[in-house]
Amino acid sequence: MTAWDDPKTIQILQRSLREWYQTQGRDLPWRNTTDPYHIWVSEIMLQQTQVKTVIPYYYRWLNQFPDIETLANSSLESVLKLWEGLGYYARARNLHRAAQKIVHEYNGVFPQQLSEVLKLPGIGRTTAGGILSAAFNQPVSILDGNVKRVLARLIGLQTPPKQAINQLWEVSDALLDSNHPREYNQGLMDLGATICTTNNPSCLLCPWGDYCHSLQHNLQTEIPMREASSPLPKKEIGVAVIWNDQGQILIDRRPQDGLLGGLWEFPGGKIEDNETVSACIQREIAEELGINIEVGKHLMTINHAYTHFRVRLNVYHCRYLEGEPEPIACDEVRWVKPEQLSDFPFPKANTKIIDAIVQGSTSQG
Ligand code: SF4
Repeated sequence: MTAWDDPKTIQILQRSLREWYQTQGRDLPWRNTTDPYHIWVSEIMLQQTQVKTVIPYYYRWLNQFPDIETLANSSLESVLKLWEGLGYYARARNLHRAAQKIVHEYNGVFPQQLSEVLKLPGIGRTTAGGILSAAFNQPVSILDGNVKRVLARLIGLQTPPKQAINQLWEVSDALLDSNHPREYNQGLMDLGATICTTNNPSCLLCPWGDYCHSLQHNLQTEIPMREASSPLPKKEIGVAVIWNDQGQILIDRRPQDGLLGGLWEFPGGKIEDNETVSACIQREIAEELGINIEVGKHLMTINHAYTHFRVRLNVYHCRYLEGEPEPIACDEVRWVKPEQLSDFPFPKANTKIIDAIVQGSTSQG
């Protein structure tokens, strides 16, 4: 019999985790509320971002969008602007869409049924479990990245967690304390975040040490097992900062769907094989905006890594020559003054370009 199918052991694990959480759990802003909207926002922000980064965004968000209805009635642009710098912008777009769905289909009240919560954009099984257990004390299990690591170590999982997701969900379900699901799930998250950390877990302080397969067999550094990883592909991009004679710059808004959807950017595109950066920029601008430009001085080169690829942005000052800019491959185009750039939500990789433009235009007077 293993730890997660022996009722007595399960009870001990549940109780020891709860007692540990009551004295060692983290005091986080979203723990002092049972408002499902607040908890939902925190869960989404925490999906790919660390707690200390999330906290100021969480407060700013609730200040600007204090309830579901306000969020639903706000523009997507204001939502993306607030999210700027947090990355993974699909999260913000989904929060906005889900708020509209809740207003239209649930009278603005966050649903309490797991099956209904799972229909909301951007909410998967573990996020639903996090929200329902924290807001309504419902016995719904969770399995985020931290929890996968804790459970993999606890049971001594001999494959990478990705290849054993069903098994890990079974363990998470089996261990869930149905009498205290809120405290149990939050304790489990905190155990992963503060004790059973990726490197150097503090096993001596762990409430589960006596039952942990990895600790008993000294396998904490080997488990969870890693997948063999291949290097990320790299894309070379030509980027144009296009100036007109009035000292304005042309920016465009990316289509809603896809990577960085709805964000503004400096136009450009992928450099083809055997193409120079200048030729790429001229071609992309003609194809995507229908105008002719002259490529001028190099402004900067930026390397940036996304989850599945890396990019190198080769940024050039350009001069507008002729044609009426049209949003052929984007949603909108606009001429703006350098000082207006900060009013628009841009991807993180573009921040350095904006800083250089603003500094350049200020130093030129
Ligand atoms: S004993 Fe160590 S490896 Fe096992 S769950 Fe606790 S912190 Fe993680």
